[in-house]
Amino acid sequence: MPADPRDPVGSLLEAVVDTAREVRGGEVAAYIPELAKADPDRLGIALVSTRGVVHEAGDAGTEFTIQSVSKPFAFALAVDALGLDEVTRHVGLEPSGEPFNAISLDAASGRPLNPMINAGAIVVTSLLAGPDADADEKFATVRAGLERFAGRDLVVDEAVFASEAETGDRNRALAFLARSAGTLGSAVDAATDAYFRQCSIVVTARDLAMMAATLATGGVNPVTGERVVSDAAARWTIAVMTSCGMYDASGEWLVRVGLSAKSGVGGGIVALEPGQFGIGTFSPPLDAQGNSVRGVAMLQALSSQFGLHLLGHR
Ligand code: GLU
Repeated sequence: MPADPRDPVGSLLEAVVDTAREVRGGEVAAYIPELAKADPDRLGIALVSTRGVVHEAGDAGTEFTIQSVSKPFAFALAVDALGLDEVTRHVGLEPSGEPFNAISLDAASGRPLNPMINAGAIVVTSLLAGPDADADEKFATVRAGLERFAGRDLVVDEAVFASEAETGDRNRALAFLARSAGTLGSAVDAATDAYFRQCSIVVTARDLAMMAATLATGGVNPVTGERVVSDAAARWTIAVMTSCGMYDASGEWLVRVGLSAKSGVGGGIVALEPGQFGIGTFSPPLDAQGNSVRGVAMLQALSSQFGLHLLGHR
């Protein structure tokens, strides 16, 4: 791609995409048939500055399901609505080092270890809209919140949702475990049904960049100007992404890339630099931990070329 002198950041992103196209390896998620249909060659990136300037390259407008990238945003909505103390009565803040779908609750407290693994994310969704809300009310709350982060209306991929719901017994088991430990905030069905829909929301890399930029500003969408969550809720969320966002590769990621981030099995990753920008990447093939191989490659390249490591500023 020729460099565009009017958009040096866009040209830089084009170069990053071109380099990442050469990166091989990884497998498209196949735990549900619908995700296995994703085109492995799609590759896109977008960056939104905290002033609301959008730069993008490759397939930044291609739609895919948000999956676990929804988790930090649902957490932000929950801590914004209920406060950190109430939310952490139900879910912890410790990295688990275990796979995303691990059957694990803290032995002493009965809480899932953190809100970025499935058990913790289901508990977070159970808290939204209160203990008596049904799945529709919970989902309406999470969707409306994600829409404010993205600055546009978002829809559900009904085929992915049906597939998630049909094959979601492990996630239901996690919800039942949390419920028996007293940490689930609602009925099991309300939590899991809303969570399956939440994971099936359709986004683009551009949406993810906008959502991340909204956290990077301290909770205000940089384009719509709407305050989505409080400054504190944004900060707590970025902190959890930093310690737990990249599945059981989070520690390695923090050392090697050093950006607050969250990935999902749909092939998306959000990353951000507080006060600076949000980035969204999309490429479906995943590594063994469930992180997009080319998404990781693009973010690693940006971090090392431009000194973005969060501990690199002197
Ligand atoms: N819907 C998926 C699940 O809960 C999300 C997986 C992910 O993106 O990590 O199994």
